[in-house]
Amino acid sequence: MLLAVNFHYIQPEGRYPYPGIYPTPADQLDNQLLELGRHFELISGEDLVHAVDGGKGLPKRACLITFDDGLKEQCIEAAPVLERHGVSGIFFICTQPFTEGVALTVHKMHRLRATRSPEQFLAELLEIAKTIELSIDVDQVDDDAANQQYIYDDLATKRIKFLLNHVIPFKDFESLIDALFSREFDETAFCREMYMNENQIRALSEKHMIGSHSHYHCPLAILGHQELTDNLLQSRSVLESVTGQEIRIISYPYGGVTAVSQDVARIARETGFIAGFTMERSINRSLIHPQLLARVSTNDAPGGKSPLLLVDEDNGRFTFHPPMTGFRTMFFNECVAVEGGGM
Ligand SMILES: [Zn+2]
Repeated sequence: MLLAVNFHYIQPEGRYPYPGIYPTPADQLDNQLLELGRHFELISGEDLVHAVDGGKGLPKRACLITFDDGLKEQCIEAAPVLERHGVSGIFFICTQPFTEGVALTVHKMHRLRATRSPEQFLAELLEIAKTIELSIDVDQVDDDAANQQYIYDDLATKRIKFLLNHVIPFKDFESLIDALFSREFDETAFCREMYMNENQIRALSEKHMIGSHSHYHCPLAILGHQELTDNLLQSRSVLESVTGQEIRIISYPYGGVTAVSQDVARIARETGFIAGFTMERSINRSLIHPQLLARVSTNDAPGGKSPLLLVDEDNGRFTFHPPMTGFRTMFFNECVAVEGGGM
């Protein structure tokens, strides 16, 4: 079985006055690697590629450490921790900030939220919506659904997240955040501060730790066939020219049910990706459908803030707490798909 664990921001807590950025401090990463290492064998991206290719199989309990978005702090803060543990991992790089100086909308939103109260943020969103002639209906926010989905946030934040992620179409969300962000921040400087540069990507690639996180960071399932193909090919080609290596593994932006589909997985395969990671909260019991591998966030994994997978100290058995599951179900039923159902 394979547990994939994902990290985003690696920085001390409390850098900003308001919540919006939920970082993992480097010492927390350090502790979690120890905890994961007690129960799993930590593997590299290359191990995964070989296993999918049909070569050497994975260890019985394998764990892969991953980082999304190509943040500079991952290279500066996290890579040395991995090195100290003698552990590999994959850094999934989004290439648009790197080639075009365009920041990810999600990072602009995080920075905006981290620097003002949720109430002020909502007021500013509504005000800017008027100026760009976008109508927003806050009454469409389903409080129950918002409560269920965003378990770690306060109510005001849950409502804003639901509004931006589920009520407003993605393109409108981008327009709103871009308009608000550009009143206050210089995007080129922001990119320079936030994302890895060519040398940093190359340094990680020397240890075979680079994967793709697409070129334009959006829920890939909203793109048409050609747009999606171009997006993935562009990302591969940029990363391959920087690293001089073949890029074989992708993690899909957002990674949930509205961002990934069987079609997205098929196009990932057609554009040369041998494995792909979603954000389905599950472990992988097999490597069947390798472009639809499940992955959990650091919080959910053993050693995280609120683990949904617990390991019995006496007999080593796993217990899964909802919404985490013991096999993949979001895009296909892994239990049924594995030959003989022998899971
Ligand atoms: Zn991302």
